[in-house]
Amino acid sequence: MAAATATLACSSSGIAVANSRVTRMQLQESSGVSVVKTPFVSKTPGLKSTSRRGLVAVHSAGLGATLPEGYEVKDRVVVDESHAGDAASGNVIDKLKAGFKNFKESNFTQNPELFEPLKSGQAPEVMIIACADSRVCPTMLHGLKPGEAFIVRSVANLVPAYDPSMENVHHGTSAAVQYAVTALGVKKVIVMGHSSCGGIKALMTMDDFGSDFVGSWVKIGLPAKETTLSQMGDKPLAEQCTFCEQEAVNVSLRNLLSFPFVEERVQKGEVELYGMHYDFHDGKLTSWKAAPSMATVNA
Ligand SMILES: [Zn+2]
Repeated sequence: MAAATATLACSSSGIAVANSRVTRMQLQESSGVSVVKTPFVSKTPGLKSTSRRGLVAVHSAGLGATLPEGYEVKDRVVVDESHAGDAASGNVIDKLKAGFKNFKESNFTQNPELFEPLKSGQAPEVMIIACADSRVCPTMLHGLKPGEAFIVRSVANLVPAYDPSMENVHHGTSAAVQYAVTALGVKKVIVMGHSSCGGIKALMTMDDFGSDFVGSWVKIGLPAKETTLSQMGDKPLAEQCTFCEQEAVNVSLRNLLSFPFVEERVQKGEVELYGMHYDFHDGKLTSWKAAPSMATVNA
């Protein structure tokens, strides 16, 4: 779960920023900006200055009105073939923009047979729940194309148990599971753990799980920790973590089955559950299936 830059992405919406300093050519989308108490004079279309000291509560149809007071939208630029950023600046945002420009030129515009159908919707066959760790990249590991997998990444790839309480609770992973299974109709759900997982190490080494967000989250895997300590209690921590990384996947698979709409589909054979563990030390992927036992099927 260690990464210098966090990126939030959504398949159905985009977030961008606008810059009053960029050239008119770069400002290909003049959507306007809402700015509060900002001491600069902007030439961005849609902005009006009400005083020499700055812009006060200026609103137009565009982005930024929901930012907290004292913040403004800056550096909004559309990145496409004409983007003239400095890819070698050493700034990771410039690197990302250059990466997208390359993708646009060499992939997006070259493969309309892939991208055109995706404009009207998605129908992925599989959902993957992986760790947010920067070293785990499901699309690269599995050679996936856009539209092929609905992917959720969280700390230690944990899935909480079904909890129908809604007040002041944000069920991010649960919402993704519901959408993938009931709306998209994925046929297979994979939970993929990995080697040297910081979230699992936190689970194995923390004693107080209630004092911060990480502790509160990784304690979902406590049954895996208990199993690990009972079976591997005399082993070094590294071996315990490797075992727990995989058993925590099984905890998440068990929790997936606590969602009624998942359990029902699994019992009917409409959805299959898989566990995976990616070891990036040895370049090894271990895969297994969590299937109803014959006794359950015959019951
Ligand atoms: Zn991890």
